[in-house]
Amino acid sequence: MELKPCPFCGVAPILSQDYFGRYDVRCLNTGCEIMPSTRVYDKAEDAAEAWNRRAEQPRRIDGQPAGITAEQFDSIYEEAD
Ligand SMILES: [Zn+2]
Repeated sequence: MELKPCPFCGVAPILSQDYFGRYDVRCLNTGCEIMPSTRVYDKAEDAAEAWNRRAEQPRRIDGQPAGITAEQFDSIYEEAD
C-alpha cells in the first residue's frame, strides 16, 4: 500500500516494526514541526490505512462542526499578546 506524504511537511513517511513485531507509520523528517506517528498496529496494512486516513470535514470531538474564523483567530492572538 502506498503511503501518503506527511500532511505537515510533505515528506514520505516510514513504516517501521517494533521489537514485538508491531507496526507504525511515522514522519522521520527532523525538519518537520509536528513529526506525527500512528498508533501501533499488529498488521502493517492497518498502520498504513491509519496513516493515509484524512478527516473530510473539521469537527469537534462531539461531532459538531468545528473550526474558527480568521477573525476569531485574530482576537485570540491579540488577547495572548
Ligand atoms: Zn512531517
